[in-house]
Amino acid sequence: MSATIIRNGRVIDPANKRDEIADLVIVDGRIADKSAIRNPKSEIEEIDAKGLIIAPGLTDIHVHLREPGFSHKETIESGAHAAASGGFTTVVCMPNTSPAADNPSTIAWIRDRAAAVACVNVLPAGAISKNLAGEELAPIGSLAQAGVVAITDDGHCVQSHEVMRRAVEYARMVGLPVLDHCQDYNLVGNGVVHEGYWSTLLGLSGWPAAGEEAMVMRNILLAELCDHHIHCQHITTAGSVRLIREARAGGVKISGEVCPHHIALSDEAIQNFDTNYKMNPPLRSQADVKALLEGIADGTLSILCSDHAPHADFEKEVEFDAAPFGIIGLETELGLFIDLLIHKHHKIDIARLIAMYTVEPARLLKIDAGTLSVGARADVTLIDQELEWTARVDQFQSASRNSPFDGWKLKGRAVQTIVGGKTVWTL
Ligand SMILES: [Zn+2]
Repeated sequence: MSATIIRNGRVIDPANKRDEIADLVIVDGRIADKSAIRNPKSEIEEIDAKGLIIAPGLTDIHVHLREPGFSHKETIESGAHAAASGGFTTVVCMPNTSPAADNPSTIAWIRDRAAAVACVNVLPAGAISKNLAGEELAPIGSLAQAGVVAITDDGHCVQSHEVMRRAVEYARMVGLPVLDHCQDYNLVGNGVVHEGYWSTLLGLSGWPAAGEEAMVMRNILLAELCDHHIHCQHITTAGSVRLIREARAGGVKISGEVCPHHIALSDEAIQNFDTNYKMNPPLRSQADVKALLEGIADGTLSILCSDHAPHADFEKEVEFDAAPFGIIGLETELGLFIDLLIHKHHKIDIARLIAMYTVEPARLLKIDAGTLSVGARADVTLIDQELEWTARVDQFQSASRNSPFDGWKLKGRAVQTIVGGKTVWTL
């Protein structure tokens, strides 16, 4: 028997509506009751969690691990280390790899690779369409059998509403949630930054808010038509928040997620043409940031994630129009969200923040994660919500360095990450 006792922490387990100072017992990789330690003389590892939060292992449902195909940006191994050091025990990796994760053999390859090298749980998402081209459906039933936890064309967006409708119907048949990167190509064109004051002033092509909202509305209509859940990825605009809020109030199976950069920064950050501020969807206006904060506060936006998107320096160090979209996020997201949502803006409390990283994603994806119930796999994150620290990209575990948050002083972070009872990272 191997046993660990994490002592005197504040156990916050939103799935069981639990918030109290207590010990957490782990026996043979599972959460256990104290009575499970039958032989007190056996070697018991003790972890002092005084002043710390003992949370269920956090899940990030939106990361790009870049393998297969782009291992110069990130690998499943390095991305998993980045996840662990950010406090994450489970990540869902997006299918825009090369080859695309639109077939069972690529999914099998990712799962095998993760089992061999990843220190956290890596759950693949499959593509909606073949090669993420938005034309022909991927074999959704076979992807489900191969073990994907959701389908999405993230990085791309299925433009044909009819193709999307059939995808949602198939997904419903096989019990998979549908995630969507909401981007109307006609409206967005070659936009690279939020369409507004700064895009006009700087002469950069605009990516209008309506380009996201049109697809959020499409997804609301299809969720109703097909009676199946659609989750809108990285929501950024006030209009999207309003649409999702109204639809949810009306009982539509729709949800949305937020990335930290979309509330930490606004579009004025692009004025120095630093490509670490170029992401898709783009940084929005101050009014949009305010609406996102309200959407988080009232539960309209129910999931937090990073959209961790590693790119090599040589790819980002080009002119703004030519640079790829995206930033790394696994190692800064928890600190940014605790700092912004709790300490600075007082929008939610730490229990709700933990719920948005645990029980909410677990319910959406119907995955076995996000709880400290007795018998659950012992995935645990220890969090110090008062710890002040400085983000230093040169100390990150990720293989890439493309972050606008280098040098930011943050308050709150994970200090220890435990997967299946085993410590995979400690500060
Ligand atoms: Zn995306």
